Amino acid sequence: MDPRYEAVIGLEIHVQLLTASKIFSAAATRYGAEPNRQVSFVDAALPGTLPVLNREAVTAAIRFGLAVGGKIARSSRFARKHYFYPDLPKGYQISQYDQPIISGGGLTIRTDRGEKRIRLIRAHLEEDAGKSLHEDFHGMSGIDLNRAGTPLLEIVTAPDLSTPTEAALFARALHTLVRWIGICDGNLQEGSFRIDANVSVRPRGETRLGTRREIKNLNSFRFLEQAIAYEIDWQIEALTAGQTIEQATVLFDPHRGETRVMRSKEEAHDYRYFPDPDLLPLIIDEEWIEVERCQLPELPDALRARLIADHALPEADAHLLTSDKGLADFYLAAVACTGVSHAKSCANWLLVEILGRLHKENRSITEAPLTPQQLADLVLRIADGTISSAAGKRLLAAWWSGDPRSVDSLIADLDLAQMRDTALIDRLVAEAIAAHPKAVAEYRAGKEKALNTLVGAVMKASQGKANPQEVRDRLLAALIAEDSSPPLS
Ligand code: ADP
Ligand code: MG
Repeated sequence: MDPRYEAVIGLEIHVQLLTASKIFSAAATRYGAEPNRQVSFVDAALPGTLPVLNREAVTAAIRFGLAVGGKIARSSRFARKHYFYPDLPKGYQISQYDQPIISGGGLTIRTDRGEKRIRLIRAHLEEDAGKSLHEDFHGMSGIDLNRAGTPLLEIVTAPDLSTPTEAALFARALHTLVRWIGICDGNLQEGSFRIDANVSVRPRGETRLGTRREIKNLNSFRFLEQAIAYEIDWQIEALTAGQTIEQATVLFDPHRGETRVMRSKEEAHDYRYFPDPDLLPLIIDEEWIEVERCQLPELPDALRARLIADHALPEADAHLLTSDKGLADFYLAAVACTGVSHAKSCANWLLVEILGRLHKENRSITEAPLTPQQLADLVLRIADGTISSAAGKRLLAAWWSGDPRSVDSLIADLDLAQMRDTALIDRLVAEAIAAHPKAVAEYRAGKEKALNTLVGAVMKASQGKANPQEVRDRLLAALIAEDSSPPLS
């Protein structure tokens, strides 16, 4: 990117709320139903029907407002936003305009250059439209109204983001948060979390904003980054060629890696917004907010800080553990069994071994065939020297394949207990030294790594049951003793 320019980015994110029924009707919101099976008269806009607001959608918005430290309007209202499209049977979308339910608040992202606070302008409730289906139809389009009336929270950031990476970091942090507080399933493929990116560029140092173009409907963090990067380059190229940027709405084509103009930008007056006369003002009392405040879980940022301060975890571990509530809950449940002095070990086993296995099997933490109690058992048996970590992996493998036996039965039945017989270890050490003269010579010549060959040999001879640290200590002792003894005649 041309260093004479800088980019300015603001995101608008549509979060589909996890309610059982729609925002203004009783029809179900389940994804993937047969087309037009979840459509009430209200969703189909039959004359004479009236919308009734779903309390759960409001609750979700309140939770979000609390989580981002925003202002929750005690009174807000719905507006009609008019546009014509076949999948919008009323001819208008019910949204919020001049009085959104949430305003302000923010979210902190962690970049390579430190923390950055991204401000939110607003978050408002609205209904989703239906879907137009173009595949499988020849010379016509299909209309599926199952999605019509699904509750959305549209979250709008201030233009505080400066790079594609920052935009992706923010989107991920928001994605974590809405799942964390249980208001959205976060399924990007199914469209539960859709991102629009507003991008402009300006000469570095300029304080006025440049003209923006809005990239619509990005449904992956990778595409978000790619699309913004492309758009920034495109705009800078246009400006350096002496052109002016026209405000527009564009689409990103992931196959070509390009953005294309979809329509010139519409203005608010194009939508003929006015308050919806069918809906009363939305009044929220203190009690409702307090109930939600009490039920809100500890948030990712607070937990992350606690894991670093009280659990003495490195930042990277704390960051990973708080990227997903299921993961954090699993970790906390395990540490509740082991005590906080084993926190690092629990985190290691969870983040490396367990996540590694889940990743390979494309499963989430809630589908792990292992309980936090089992993780705790394993960590404690390693900590007290009963088993080695190699044996720990075998325990894990047994539980993973559904073995119901307890930690101690497995240790006994699979003969996993660590070798405690020092005389035997010393014998294996002597044998290893005799069998690997080259490694011994290298070690004596100053190549410290050669010691690993010897440790490995002893570990193998002990069938993994010796304690590697003990083996190392005994080996060193034996080598020093040999050094100081008179040469064999
Ligand atoms: P509209 O009313 O057209 O939707 P808003 O003022 O609500 O416009 O802004 C929509 C989004 O665009 C917000 O995320 C905002 O931060 C962002 N935005 C506004 N102006 C610019 C700009 N010049 N460059 C980049 N982003 C911008
Ligand atoms: Mg907007």
